[in-house]
Amino acid sequence: MAELIPPSTRLPPELDLVRQSVFRLVRDEILPAIGRLEREGTFPRALIARMGAAGCFGATFPEAVGGSDLGFAAVAVIAEEISRTRPDFGYCMNLQAMTCPFTILNWGTADQIARFVPDLIAGRKIGMFGLTEPGGGSDPAGAMRSTARRDGDSYRLNGSKQWITFAHEADTGVLFARTDAAAGARGITAFIIQPKESPGYHARPIAMRNLSPILASCTVSLDDFVVPDANRLGAEGEGFRIALNALEFGRLTVASRQVGLAQACLEHGIAYAREREVGGRPIGRYQLVQGLIADLAVEVHAARLLVAELAATMDAGEPANRIASHAKYFASRTAKNAASAAREIFAGYALADEYPISFLAGFIDMLAVGEGTANVQRVLIAEDALGFKDANRASLPARKFRNGAA
Ligand SMILES: Cc1cc2nc3c(=O)[nH]c(=O)nc-3n(C[C@H](O)[C@H](O)[C@H](O)COP(=O)(O)OP(=O)(O)OC[C@H]3O[C@@H](n4cnc5c(N)ncnc54)[C@H](O)[C@@H]3O)c2cc1C
Repeated sequence: MAELIPPSTRLPPELDLVRQSVFRLVRDEILPAIGRLEREGTFPRALIARMGAAGCFGATFPEAVGGSDLGFAAVAVIAEEISRTRPDFGYCMNLQAMTCPFTILNWGTADQIARFVPDLIAGRKIGMFGLTEPGGGSDPAGAMRSTARRDGDSYRLNGSKQWITFAHEADTGVLFARTDAAAGARGITAFIIQPKESPGYHARPIAMRNLSPILASCTVSLDDFVVPDANRLGAEGEGFRIALNALEFGRLTVASRQVGLAQACLEHGIAYAREREVGGRPIGRYQLVQGLIADLAVEVHAARLLVAELAATMDAGEPANRIASHAKYFASRTAKNAASAAREIFAGYALADEYPISFLAGFIDMLAVGEGTANVQRVLIAEDALGFKDANRASLPARKFRNGAA
């Protein structure tokens, strides 16, 4: 694996050191081990713990819970670099760093934060985020059929979830269910679940060609699964607000991961265009191939700058939902264009396992839907631009910026 410094954005020295350390971790520890783990079908717990110990997940967490407090700009750099070099491990940036533990940090009680956050960001425990249901991910409140019924000092959860990443291995998750069938989006409640602690939880990985066989997404069924009262996250009925807030922060990691994937397509495309000779010249000498590379180089640069602006907005504690949609939508489009350009440059060899193009394209397709599809982002962006709905109306910064409380 060649280290190719992303050419289009200069990082401040401290963030470039972070990026380099992620690069070395992937090169020296993940890549040598992953083939064997995939052949054995073993979930890479030890590697995720190594990532946690190396600080990959703690950048937006205070030192008191084991974080580094480097901020959202560092999260963006780490997520981009992991995704550029080993995109399947990019999932961890959501589940070990953002949508699961950061949601607990933002909404949990002091006791919940102390019980769950340090182990998640250290990679000692595996996280998950259970929002989507079989009835459709684009309208999670409308589609939500899972219920949580009070039973003494606990809740009993029933229903099913779809596409829940790491659900087959998770120790701790944030999961949403209905506590009031008649209250629409206001009838949803968030819970911190511990799948291994009580019966009634079943997760089955969904087979997906081109994605990781071990870092899987699952169908989950809940059959009188018990969650103690002490693990309710926020108030009853507050769950959908919590979910939207979690997705806002999740869009930072997803957009950064898309930039990393687009950067990888660009780098592989450039290397191949320089070495592959057709008609006596490297194909990179042909202007139509140059056009693909030129467009991509500019788009990747622009997408990274939008993500950097999103991170800066979050680091300033300002409402970030608008810029999150812009960054996620543009990064997603850029990554799709990158996959298409790489496929064109590699032609038949894009399909060969010898090159990573199909692997990268699989993750690009996957991330195009995560944290809101392109259509959903476009609707949000257009309604905001038209003045119908302010995209930042419900945006809520990280807890440490709210009321000055950490
Ligand atoms: C590999 C993978 C991992 C995932 N991991 C997780 C996870 O860990 N946790 C979790 O909760 N979810 C997860 N998801 C779910 C993901 O968030 C959803 O797939 C996504 O929200 C889209 O939902 P859907 O696939 O049901 O598409 P649908 O909602 O069925 O949408 C289908 C199409 O209709 C379009 N559409 C829908 N509504 C509108 C509208 N109002 N206007 C215009 N167009 C519209 C969509 O844009 C899309 O093109 C994961 C998904 C995948 C594929």
